[in-house]
Amino acid sequence: MKKVLISIVVAAALLGGCETNPVTGRKQLMILPEETAIESSAKAYTEMLTPFQQAGKLDNNPAVTARVVQITERLIPPAIAYRPETKDWAWSVKVIDDPKVVNAWCMAGGKMAIYTGLINQLQATDDEIAQVMGHEIAHALAKHQTEQMSRAVVTQLGVNAVAIFTDARYAAMAQQAAAGAAKVAIQLPNSREAESEADRIGIELAAKAGYNPKAAVTLWQKMAKVSGSEGKSDFLSTHPAPEKRMEALGELVPQMMPFYQDKAERPVFKLKASAPAAQSTARAAPSRPDPAPI
Ligand SMILES: [Zn+2]
Repeated sequence: MKKVLISIVVAAALLGGCETNPVTGRKQLMILPEETAIESSAKAYTEMLTPFQQAGKLDNNPAVTARVVQITERLIPPAIAYRPETKDWAWSVKVIDDPKVVNAWCMAGGKMAIYTGLINQLQATDDEIAQVMGHEIAHALAKHQTEQMSRAVVTQLGVNAVAIFTDARYAAMAQQAAAGAAKVAIQLPNSREAESEADRIGIELAAKAGYNPKAAVTLWQKMAKVSGSEGKSDFLSTHPAPEKRMEALGELVPQMMPFYQDKAERPVFKLKASAPAAQSTARAAPSRPDPAPI
């Protein structure tokens, strides 16, 4: 099965679904245009979060939400500096109240979520939350979700995938395939290369946002501890954490210190769609909650 998949991927790549990432220089399987990935991710985001919103489990603690929003708003400016066109992304972050889930993610297009399980079980500091979110944003900047979605549609559609996404006659089929792949993209483990890319970019985003790079190491130490106990880490199922990874991050710390210690004022990117508005809408019309603020 794996061999078949590999040959499909190779064939798809030969047909032109591959591109070289200008930031990392690594070849990526890119059957889907990034805009398609962003569009279907926005829909998937609403679908995934609406049940939590209806259950009152979304942004339900103003203090926690404010903390996460503040950290994210500082991380976005260095992300935009990294890829200027992302200033037009509909950036968003939500806190999902699920104390058992140690996880966070960012979809293509900058739609993010973090679970209370990660914050509480790790007793995460602001610096550590910034490392998690910086890492997740880095995946989006390096188009890893688009890459994952491309892989998912190739598995689903075979070599026809390239034709489906390049021929306007198949637009409806392409949309359907992309919609299914958007959720899969944040649930599949990334490749080791993608993880090192996100680690390296993420620690830099956090340092430039004013967060201590040493927290990248303590974060993984805490994550390893949690995964060893009964509270299994979902983050680790999509983000394998070998010892080498902590080592690599530790080696990056000295390079990141000048960014962190920079005394210049840190810009802030104000996020739209406030949590209380989203919640009061849900409460006012429980039978027809407006998913728009998500
Ligand atoms: Zn990752």
